[in-house]
Parts: sequence; C-alpha cells; structure tokens
Amino acid sequence: MQYFDHAATTPVRREVLEAMWPYLTGDFGNPSSTHELGERAAHALADARTRVASAFGARAAEVVFTSGGTEADNLAIKGISLANPRGRHLITTRIEHEAVLESCDYLHRLHGFEVSFVDTDRSGRVDLDSFRALLRPDTSLVTIMFANNEIGTVQPIPEIVQIAHAIGVPVHTDAVQAAGWLTLDQRVIGADAISISGHKLGAPKGIGALYIRGRIPLEPLLHGGGQERGARSGTENVAGAVALATALDLAKQEAGGLTELAARRDAFIRTVLQIPGMQLTGHPEDRLPQHASFCCLGVSGEAVLLELERRGVVISSGSACAAGRDEPSHVLTALGYDPDLARTALRFTFGTDATGDQLAEAAQAVREAVGVVRGGS
Ligand code: PLP
Repeated sequence: MQYFDHAATTPVRREVLEAMWPYLTGDFGNPSSTHELGERAAHALADARTRVASAFGARAAEVVFTSGGTEADNLAIKGISLANPRGRHLITTRIEHEAVLESCDYLHRLHGFEVSFVDTDRSGRVDLDSFRALLRPDTSLVTIMFANNEIGTVQPIPEIVQIAHAIGVPVHTDAVQAAGWLTLDQRVIGADAISISGHKLGAPKGIGALYIRGRIPLEPLLHGGGQERGARSGTENVAGAVALATALDLAKQEAGGLTELAARRDAFIRTVLQIPGMQLTGHPEDRLPQHASFCCLGVSGEAVLLELERRGVVISSGSACAAGRDEPSHVLTALGYDPDLARTALRFTFGTDATGDQLAEAAQAVREAVGVVRGGS
C-alpha cells in the first residue's frame, strides 16, 4: 500500500516510539509527584519542553503542551481574545480549519465578538490589501493559518504579522500542517502564537503544543491543578511531550531532503495534469513541499479515491474531518469553486520517503482510476 494521506495523520516513527516508551512503562510517574519517579517524569517533560521551544526559537516557558492541534487553536483564539481588553474584533479567513472557524464562531455567539474574513485569491493566498483594510484599533486577534490542509497553500505570515504589529494587534497561526515541513521559528514567522499537532509529523495522536509569546495574557480553557503554568490544567502527557520533541528533532535533521521531495512532487503534479480535465488547486509555488491537490472535471473525488485504493494508493478527497460528508469542501467553495467541481477534489500528501518511482506509479494509477470513473474502461 502507498499511503499518501500524511496531512490526515502519520504513522508513529520508530525513533519516536522508542523515545516515549520509557515514560509509558518504567518511568511512568506523574511529573507533579515529589518522589523519584515523579522527578524523572518532570525532568523528561522539562527536557521535551526545551526541545519543542527550540523548534519555535522560543523559551521553554513559552510552550504549552495540549492534546493536539484543535486544543492548541482553541486555547490560542479563545485564550488570547478573552484575556485581551483591547476589543472584540477578530480577523481570520474562510479557509481555516474548523478548529479555528468554530472557535471564532464561539466567541461571536457567546461573547459578542465580531469576526471579519480576509479575501483570498483562487489559490488561497491572503490579499494583504484586504487584510490591511480590515484591521481596526479594537481588533483583538488575527488568526490565519500557516499552510492549508486541503490545498497546501502557504500564507505570507511574516508580512501579515508586520502589518498587524504596526498597530499592536497579536497574530496567531495554525501551523498544524506546516510542522515538519516549514520552519516554526517565531523569529522568522513573527507570530505571537503558533499551534502544532504531533500526529501530523510522526508522533502519536493526542499531543500538541502552543507557542505563546511571553507577555501575552492567556485565559485558560481548562481549570484545575494549574499545570502548564496555569495555562492548561491536567496531568501532563509526558510520553506524548517526549514524542513530539523527538518528532520535531527528526524533522529538523531531515529538512535538507525537502527540496528534493518538492521536486519529485512537482514531477508528479506535471504528470497528473496531463490527464484531461485535471486542474491543480492551491498555489503552484507557495505550497507545502509534500502536497499535491487537484480537481478533476466531471468525476467524483470519492469515486476516484475508491478506485485508487483498489490500486493500492491511499489518498483523501479533501480534509479527513470532512470525509464521508456529502458537502463540498468549505475551502474550495470559499475560493469560488463551483460546488460540483469542489466535490471532485483529490489530495495527495506524501511522506519524506516517497520515491520518484512510487510517485510515477501513483500518477499512472490516477490516470487509470479517472478513466474507470469516467466509464472509459
Ligand atoms: N488545524 C489544521 C490545519 C489541521 O489540518 C488539523 C487536523 O487535521 C487541525 C488543526 C486539528 O489538529 P488535531 O487533529 O491534532 O486536533
């Protein structure tokens, strides 16, 4: 089987499993306990925090471990907005993950926040003039994703941050899809809060992290024992934190291979685009290096997906969260795609180990699958 759905989730890497294993077995202590087992867990947690902080180019105290990307997004958006006396205005895009859109909607419905949506072009890139025009003195937070899960488009976050910071507005970015592929260094990205999730980069499901710049006040969502410096109560997932730190370290070591992966991906895109009716979605250049997404006139994405699975190629027809629903992708429809065309979406997200031969075979399988769905063979 060729698994080309890494944006949905990834297998846990062997090195990650080995690193976390001791904290699930012999060294299983609660980091808040004062006995030796507890101290060993606390030490592992502190070490993991330092390593995750280093991926963010930040201090350990600026990292909050969470249960994943959804929680990190909720904590950033609700936590910063509710603690910020500046105003009740949020700026986001219509192509965010549901974790962001629903957090903004919650603040709108229950706390009277006004939510503005920045225009994007058809490739999903934010229009900076539209963004500039929406910023107001009472804007409490800007939340715009680093890279889109469905179409792979990377946003100009440093430019967005520069514009927002000029009038003192903090910026959060959902980097769940970017983690492992693009730099998360806050000194480069500039964002004040950055969400990531372990299961997208070879750590298990159920661990994530939020980078939150030192002096930004944050209202916690979970109240209790005061762990994570009061930002997120609950006994810490020590093994998960070690796993996330290890996965980030590995991604950093392997970052050198991403240019070649992008070149293999580009060759795949060129081959697939030779299929009649096929069009690329997302930005042709400013996109994640492992991401290829298409729409294919006249064929259902779900039907092509099933045909591809029969040929041993596992992909997705959009985001994993929307899979199985008959609704067209909210991302593609927001970009102006006709709902019928949006239902033809196909998403290939490769792992770093995907070879040129495997990608060539997958492209051939796409041609065959589309042919079958069109009734050609
Ligand atoms: N944000 C983006 C862009 C995602 O792609 C996902 C997961 O698909 C999430 C947030 C949610 O992350 P998690 O599954 O860890 O809750």
